[in-house]
Amino acid sequence: MKKRPEDCVHCGKCIASCPSYRYFLQESYSPRGRNLILTKDLNSQALDFCLFCENCKSLCPQGLNFPEFYLQKIFQDKGYSLPTLSDSLNLLHLHPEGKRLYKKFDPSSFENYREGDFYIYLSCGLKHLYPEALFVFLEKVKSLRIKPQIPLNQDCCGIIYLSIRSKEALKKLALNKLNLFKEDKPVVTFCATCYWLFKRIYPLLFEEEADFKALSERTYFILDFLTNFLNLEPFFEEDSEILYHLPCHLKNNLTFDERSLNKILKNLSFTCCGSAKVTLWLRGFQKGYSKFWKKELIGKKVLATACTGCYLNFGFQVRRPPEIKHWIEFLK
Ligand code: SF4
Ligand code: SF4
Repeated sequence: MKKRPEDCVHCGKCIASCPSYRYFLQESYSPRGRNLILTKDLNSQALDFCLFCENCKSLCPQGLNFPEFYLQKIFQDKGYSLPTLSDSLNLLHLHPEGKRLYKKFDPSSFENYREGDFYIYLSCGLKHLYPEALFVFLEKVKSLRIKPQIPLNQDCCGIIYLSIRSKEALKKLALNKLNLFKEDKPVVTFCATCYWLFKRIYPLLFEEEADFKALSERTYFILDFLTNFLNLEPFFEEDSEILYHLPCHLKNNLTFDERSLNKILKNLSFTCCGSAKVTLWLRGFQKGYSKFWKKELIGKKVLATACTGCYLNFGFQVRRPPEIKHWIEFLK
């Protein structure tokens, strides 16, 4: 039977895991409090401070997932339409630090990848923040008998529109993905949040329509793809000066073989960085929340993550060192 916020038994097991509760220390900012707000059909700004991290889902004995309830509510609303940017990271030029983080992308480097056995999703992050991750990966797969395909004209996954509740813009970007990745081949992403949108949010938005369910099933995070699809055992560089940050959208949807992380458990951070929603930047949340993760960086040379939002959050707020990198750059 479909779960509902009313199924919450108020046990409180989810509360300590919720980043926004940790910050505000108020019941209405916890998953339990938010479920109650939804059951009473109230409006509260506490709803908007849900980061969609899904930490509550993994601890709830009833299997409740607050963001899913909340998103269903948002998707039922009429929503509003905004001009759709194909590349959200263009907005980085509005910010002095953003200009420094932004890398120019040259699609002509991928002429040899017009046909292949699996698709690579060129997310905004892969194009403009950590393109090195793609080059490292392309070098590695050269020795395998499988060829990536990189379609031209790829656009944003739409997380920015989910954050500002522009359902129409999100729909438009989701439909573009069906068109871009129309052949029945795996789609590989390098960003935990893009992965979450393809896997979970597009099907929710289109009410489990068959094409979106099929796209979700053939979407892999890069490590999923290496382990589950290519049967490889990727391992990461072990170095006490590298901190590997595990993004929430990956941690809570983990399907890859955890052996690849076992050797770096000592260097793995499970802390939510608080980045997921762009709207909360405008309210100063990410800056205030950084006190929960900044202390983990003491003595680190590199902070490696695997998500565009986390990368940007760290990029904006961390004074170097550590350098901010993508996980794949440390794959052995
Ligand atoms: S998704 Fe994250 S922020 Fe939202 S209620 Fe659950 S734990 Fe809290
Ligand atoms: S863990 Fe689940 S049932 Fe318990 S309070 Fe949280 S949402 Fe409710």
